[in-house]
Amino acid sequence: MVDLDKIISLCKRRGFIFQGSDQYGGLQGTWDYGPLGVELKNNVKKAWWRRVVYERDDMEGLDCAILMNRLVLKYSGHEETFSDPMVDCRKCKKRFRADQVDHNEKCAEGDKHDLTEPRPFNLMFKTTVGPVAEENNIAYLRPETAQGIFINFKNVLDSTNRKLPFGIAQIGKSYRNEITPRNFIFRVREFEQMEIEFFVKPGTDDEWHSKWVEDRFNWYVELGIKPENLRKYEQKPEELAHYAKATVDLLYRFFPEREDENKQFDEVEGIANRTDFDLTCHTKGGKLVLADGREIPNTHAVNKLTYFDHETNQHILPYVVEPSAGVDRATLAFLMDSYFEETVNDGQRIVLRLHPELAPIKVAVLPLKKNHDGIRNTAMQIKNTLMKKSGWRTVYDDTAGIGKLYRRQDEIGTPFCVTVDFDTLEDQSVTVRDRDTMAQERVKIDALQDYLAKKLGNCR
Ligand SMILES: [Zn+2]
Repeated sequence: MVDLDKIISLCKRRGFIFQGSDQYGGLQGTWDYGPLGVELKNNVKKAWWRRVVYERDDMEGLDCAILMNRLVLKYSGHEETFSDPMVDCRKCKKRFRADQVDHNEKCAEGDKHDLTEPRPFNLMFKTTVGPVAEENNIAYLRPETAQGIFINFKNVLDSTNRKLPFGIAQIGKSYRNEITPRNFIFRVREFEQMEIEFFVKPGTDDEWHSKWVEDRFNWYVELGIKPENLRKYEQKPEELAHYAKATVDLLYRFFPEREDENKQFDEVEGIANRTDFDLTCHTKGGKLVLADGREIPNTHAVNKLTYFDHETNQHILPYVVEPSAGVDRATLAFLMDSYFEETVNDGQRIVLRLHPELAPIKVAVLPLKKNHDGIRNTAMQIKNTLMKKSGWRTVYDDTAGIGKLYRRQDEIGTPFCVTVDFDTLEDQSVTVRDRDTMAQERVKIDALQDYLAKKLGNCR
């Protein structure tokens, strides 16, 4: 299996992902998605949205602001507790996460590091809103999209007349000032999440939790992740966050080069049963219960976040099942799982066997000869017609010989190449080449769209 280094090199070479602020030496923990990366990432998000919103009857979408009123993150508990323990070296001033420090590492100032005791370091990015930078104007960049969903529970409920169980889905950027961002887009300071808060009646939460674990696992596999590279990990009681009743993490084999197989896997998504913790935090007259048992009464919220249950004629606080996925991590998993190096007749090829739905480009139309008007014009016409009628991202490329053009499309995961040659001008047919099998088939131009539609399925 491919390791991270090869993926990083492919991503830079072919324009999937670049270091953020590269032109000025970079900004640690940030990455920019290039021409192909933005397509791939958008396709991951579209596939998720279709699966969890469009293809279900119990979901709504939402898109909340990134800047949040400080009170949201006070009562969610983030202001008080969203921190990692960190240690500093007294000699070289380097800072580490306490759980990640290598005690044998050499200090730049000689000998070993001289480390402080661990101290909490809040991971939220703080800023001020408005022209005056003072305490009252503090706001945070959201550290997760979830809180926006909880505080809009009542708005969504009242505007849609939903009945339990139902869920709210959101995709968006979140920010965490990680002490040690690392491993490419795996641990970063600005990232994107795909989160669902699924509201259920208390008592049905266990069943819904299991259902979501299955559904989310299957989503990755159906989009091409090999089951042996994806694991369900049920958190042990001592690992659970204090508000969670149960959490199952989906782990992907991001680090195949590690000797210990268990260490090869890390989280791509977590599915938590959060009970009524969050709605209790944010509801009018509610309270935040901290891990150490302290309670902070909510004296600011304006609405009750309750649900009227007609069966029992009671106002209840729903329980919440939260499938929370990282867009960047999912994108990385799809890249790693689809990467193959192969020996073929005329040498080596790198091929990304991406699911067609995820492939940045669906079809490449290639002229066998670029200096021939008839061939070039026909190819351009086919490209424009396919693009317009099907909506597939279709490209035209004549910047190299046909062999090289095929390799280039293989390497970026384009499922089909359509080649226009001299015979095309006579028989109105083109050669369609399959990325995975490299098999070539002659297809009439008139029948091309139907032919490709059958193979590309759901793609847009
Ligand atoms: Zn040091």
